[in-house]
Amino acid sequence: MVKYNRILLKLSGESLMGEQQYGIDVNRLNEYATQIKAVADMGVQISIVIGGGNIFRGLSGASEGFDRVKGDQMGMLATVINSLALSSALTAIGQKSRVLTAIRMEPIGEIYSKWKAIEAMENSEVVILSCGTGNPFFTTDTGSSLRGIEIEADVMLKGTRVDGVYTADPEKDPAAVKFDSISYDEVYKRGLKVMDMTATVMCKENNLPIVVFDMDTPGNLEKLIKGEKIGTYVHA
Ligand code: UDP
Repeated sequence: MVKYNRILLKLSGESLMGEQQYGIDVNRLNEYATQIKAVADMGVQISIVIGGGNIFRGLSGASEGFDRVKGDQMGMLATVINSLALSSALTAIGQKSRVLTAIRMEPIGEIYSKWKAIEAMENSEVVILSCGTGNPFFTTDTGSSLRGIEIEADVMLKGTRVDGVYTADPEKDPAAVKFDSISYDEVYKRGLKVMDMTATVMCKENNLPIVVFDMDTPGNLEKLIKGEKIGTYVHA
């Protein structure tokens, strides 16, 4: 009945802003929590990596004079804020969840390990993996590919506000055409911004397929899990 039994869902921090310019839009947050619970109720094992771009990005900090490493650490802390918010929204609707952190910071969250994440998923908890990779100079896209590979996810689902991968940015170029599926190599050759290159290469080398889809349309996550062809499938 379900196409994927274990997923790594990547949500960008920016998407949590909803219509706002900064921070967390509670309606958007609750809407995401509802979609996630619906899929958890189908028995799907779920780990989630959230970005922090709605609060702080190391690179933009560096352009304003911040030390890059400290800026990236601030960015990683931003992902913790978002993770706690999502965990809280899931709890409020009766979905068990657990925040694991790549950097030690109990009691905010337990330190991440592959086995802890898998055990929690097997106990029907939604696992929220924060701090990305735990290292500066990386992004949460790379954190997602890394964690997706580690936890042996069937697929990495990248929820964005665009409904897939296009030949050009559809928000800027009305002639842009959407791909139903595309290979990792084609993504690279065309220089498409599906994810950053490090993340795409990691998925390619470890054979983790990616689906880029519009998470802002309620019900889309469930449709994907049921095998409906939405978004763009990125594969070998
Ligand atoms: N970050 C980092 N290492 C990681 C993941 C994230 O240093 O492994 C920092 C980096 O500064 C990044 C910020 O956290 O800009 C927020 O993550 P990201 O930009 O990926 O968030 P998103 O664009 O998904 O909202």
